[in-house]
Amino acid sequence: MTATLTYPNTQLLIDNVWCDAASGKSIAVVNPSTGSEAGRVAHSTKDDLDRALVAAQKGFATWRNMTALERSDIMRKAATILRERAELIATYMTIEQGKPLAESKVEVLSGAQIIEWFAEEARRVYGRIVPPRNMNTTAMVLKEPVGVVAAFTPWNFPINQVVRKVSAALATGCSIIVKAPEETPASPAELIRAFVDAGLPSGVVQLVFGNPAEISSYLIPHPTVRKITFTGSTPVGKMLASMAGQHMKRATMELGGHAPVIVAEDADIALAVKSAGAAKFRNAGQVCIAPTRFLVANKIKGDFTEALVKYSEGLKVGDGMEKGIQMGPLANARRLDAMQKVVADAKAKGARIATGGERIGSSGNFFTPTVVADVPLDASLFNDEPFGPIAGVRGFDTIEEAIAEANRLSFGLASYAFTKSLKTLHTLSQGIEVGMLWVNQPAVAVPEMPFGGVKDSGYGSEGGPEALEAYLNTKTVSVANV
Ligand code: NAD
Repeated sequence: MTATLTYPNTQLLIDNVWCDAASGKSIAVVNPSTGSEAGRVAHSTKDDLDRALVAAQKGFATWRNMTALERSDIMRKAATILRERAELIATYMTIEQGKPLAESKVEVLSGAQIIEWFAEEARRVYGRIVPPRNMNTTAMVLKEPVGVVAAFTPWNFPINQVVRKVSAALATGCSIIVKAPEETPASPAELIRAFVDAGLPSGVVQLVFGNPAEISSYLIPHPTVRKITFTGSTPVGKMLASMAGQHMKRATMELGGHAPVIVAEDADIALAVKSAGAAKFRNAGQVCIAPTRFLVANKIKGDFTEALVKYSEGLKVGDGMEKGIQMGPLANARRLDAMQKVVADAKAKGARIATGGERIGSSGNFFTPTVVADVPLDASLFNDEPFGPIAGVRGFDTIEEAIAEANRLSFGLASYAFTKSLKTLHTLSQGIEVGMLWVNQPAVAVPEMPFGGVKDSGYGSEGGPEALEAYLNTKTVSVANV
């Protein structure tokens, strides 16, 4: 099976019809392992967006009037279809995004689990009856779908970032227009296809690609759209959130992070290296919750760094389609340039490159798993989201000092801690300003748990009951029983 033979051209989905852009325009999708064109993706213009808006409005009217049970059944069927097609869809994902095939498969299969969880929750979108102040009245709180949603998703998890948004929207009775990533379009298109093939009525989901800034600046202010959901960088998120604010639209923002990993003096070093190391280099570090700042108790810093270096040097890097590959290329050439700058800056500021720090070969976007020791606080690695396979290590003397460093940045998405002490755990869980903390384990982002950040990492949640709440309006109804 070769990339160029099997990878499809991706179309738009409008009103349940797969179609090219009205203008006929398409753009290249590049395989990051080879640097060559794998296929093409349709590039929408305003005409396509207008059709998508009309269809979504119609789809909303249909979908909101179906029973929760009917909606749930279609979602469950989509999950089954996705699972049946997992092998093929994972192949598309690896060709377009670069991650190892095994990681792609996990992403597709966990997508099916996410759909199923939301399908179950779809049947439990309850309002409530409130004890009235007057016995002749009934006081009710109704939960209603917010309406047409516009979703903008990035290239690092082509399915995961879409499936959480689509599933929450569908579970609550909303329709949705997804602007999926142009760099990795085929796998999210297959996710959407699973819903269509499961019997989703026309207009409930539309899929568009094109120029992200043009599409967001058209859809967000548009009166048809009632909610925005975005996953991506903090600067873009702030721009879109302010546009949503100007037009009084509901918004969920899942933005960047700079996750601290606090390794206390009493930590199990092998466990910390195995779990945080795996989390660091998963998807070549292009993960918003990836560990980035390893804050290690000075007494064990030497042993920890040595073990992390050994772990990193043992990783097999290469084309994700090849057997046994543990880390693929960076998803695009921009990230490769960014990694080289981060390493040069750290070196110039006095950090020690303990391993890696270089591009591998001259074709494809491969970069060595990198460990940078003794990172000064003014290095870009400890301030800007690296979003790549670079781990920075720095020592601390007290847990309070580690917490202060963890909280120094404006990000507040994920964090990790390794300790055997309940007291330390308690201090950390109360002191760290983040949306998610994983202790003595890698990140486990299950659909039943809230997923989201605080501070500049955004607002709203993409997991747990909170994820559904974000797509619901609350209506108070008081009835005098005359
Ligand atoms: P970027 O900031 O230009 O784009 C990030 C994502 O936002 C992309 O999917 C892009 O299509 C989209 N985007 C950009 N401008 C937009 C606009 N005006 N309207 C709507 N969508 C828009 O940068 P990039 O080079 O693609 O990615 C690099 C940075 O993005 C990383 O450093 C990382 O911080 C962030 N990122 C975060 C996540 C995440 O999961 N939170 C995912 C991908 C990228």
